[in-house]
Amino acid sequence: MPKTAHEKTQLVLENYIGGTFVPCSRLIDSYDPSTGEVYCKVPDSEGAEVEAAVQAAKAAFPVWSSKSPQERSKVLNKIADLIDAHLEELAHAESKDQGKTISQAQTLEIPRSSYNFRFFASSILHHVTECSDMDHMGCLHYTLRTPVGVAGLISPWNLPLYLLTWKIAPAIAMGNTVVAKPSEMTSVSAWMMCKLLDEAGVPPGVVNIVFGTGPKAGQALVSHPDVPLISFTGSTMTAQHITKCSAPYCKKLSLELGGKNPAIIFDDANLEDCIPTTVRSSFANQGEICLCTSRIFVQKGIYGEFLQRFVEAAQKWKVGVPSDPTAQIGALISKEHLEKVQGYVKLAKAEGGKVLCGYGVDSIQVPDKNKNGYFMLPTVITEVTDSSRCMQEEIFGPVTCILPFDSEEEVIQRANNVKYGLAATVWSSNVGRVHRVAKKLQAGLIWTNCWLIRDLNLPFGGMKCSGVGREGEKDSFEFFTEVKTITIKH
Ligand code: NAD
Repeated sequence: MPKTAHEKTQLVLENYIGGTFVPCSRLIDSYDPSTGEVYCKVPDSEGAEVEAAVQAAKAAFPVWSSKSPQERSKVLNKIADLIDAHLEELAHAESKDQGKTISQAQTLEIPRSSYNFRFFASSILHHVTECSDMDHMGCLHYTLRTPVGVAGLISPWNLPLYLLTWKIAPAIAMGNTVVAKPSEMTSVSAWMMCKLLDEAGVPPGVVNIVFGTGPKAGQALVSHPDVPLISFTGSTMTAQHITKCSAPYCKKLSLELGGKNPAIIFDDANLEDCIPTTVRSSFANQGEICLCTSRIFVQKGIYGEFLQRFVEAAQKWKVGVPSDPTAQIGALISKEHLEKVQGYVKLAKAEGGKVLCGYGVDSIQVPDKNKNGYFMLPTVITEVTDSSRCMQEEIFGPVTCILPFDSEEEVIQRANNVKYGLAATVWSSNVGRVHRVAKKLQAGLIWTNCWLIRDLNLPFGGMKCSGVGREGEKDSFEFFTEVKTITIKH
């Protein structure tokens, strides 16, 4: 990967606009979550930088959008090849920047980032549109899909490159050009990817990345009149604000938001599979995945046994420095976030809950140099009410609540009793029950007897306050294009 001028002395990121790295005079501190120390400086971009990026994207649009799907596909495959070739560098950078374990970055995130490009490089070759013959009127109707223009893409800090490429890949595959803004807390892997774009044959201006905060760079992007489409992944609160800002321009919006995902465990579940998978679904990536389980409902007959075995399994999960290949949990993203997550555990106790393991119960072991890192043990809470804040609000950390239930009808009602509707898991060996429950749960994704297995061909997204719209093969194709119906009288 070629080095930029700044990188040789200190890690100082630059915006990537019109195919060129552009320094920014204002910089934000970026912290290493495993030590609590500043290790990188990120551009604090504002309206002017966003304006330059939008102009570069607009200028590149006519040529890029008129290329054949085959030509665009070739470029996307080349980006994927280059990400694969730099997997180790990217994984180490992502792990250091975000605090996630190196094994998660190596096995899940960076491979998925290249796969995002490969997947849309392939799917773009197979799109067909609709045709309807209205013979009695002497008319033939057909639809055409055209790229929308400059796409504004905003991503969060929890799965940085994975989520950013899940937006960039379909957007440019369909012929759009993009201005992307990663989270100001995790910008490094996106900046490293920019260094690969030229070699992959991405023409200048097709992908522009502007680094900075939400209120400055993000705000300028969502309220820019020449950006007709916003794909946003982040919190529900930010999405509500973005919806308001984009309303005057009637922008196309795709919003992938937070969750408060239930796991429902019936007494005929295979606990050998269920317990390790539910520990993973609760604590993977420090619980910082929108799809993580945070409310576990267990049928009364197996409640005692489940609780004991789950806590034993959670206590075995290794919290360690992100670069430790044996660590299962790394560091949380920031001091503020760690304090917020710990605050929920304190709140649960104040509300009469019982903390069975983790924060405040067990002690954490990390090397001396990591004493100021943002580490937290997997924490299990019980005896809270369904209406408590821990059971209603998204915590987004390694904390899960476990409560008993009696009947199928009761648990469906309780699982649906939150404002979110992103994902759910159901554990039972009764196929009929699994179908009945899955149909009644208010969630965009339901896993039964498993978790996090995805087919990118199928829709991804949430209902209620978890999102608007879906992304995936067909859904992304529809979102990143405009459709028109053409009628020809013969
Ligand atoms: P966030 O909403 O604080 O920030 C997300 C992005 O929006 C960041 O890039 C941020 O800089 C930007 N932003 C903030 N204010 C903005 C504004 N006024 N205008 C434009 N952009 C703005 O979310 P976060 O804390 O980075 O991420 C965690 C959240 O993301 C959680 O709620 C999590 O559930 C959610 N998430 C959802 C999915 C999903 O697919 N549904 C996936 C991952 C994360």
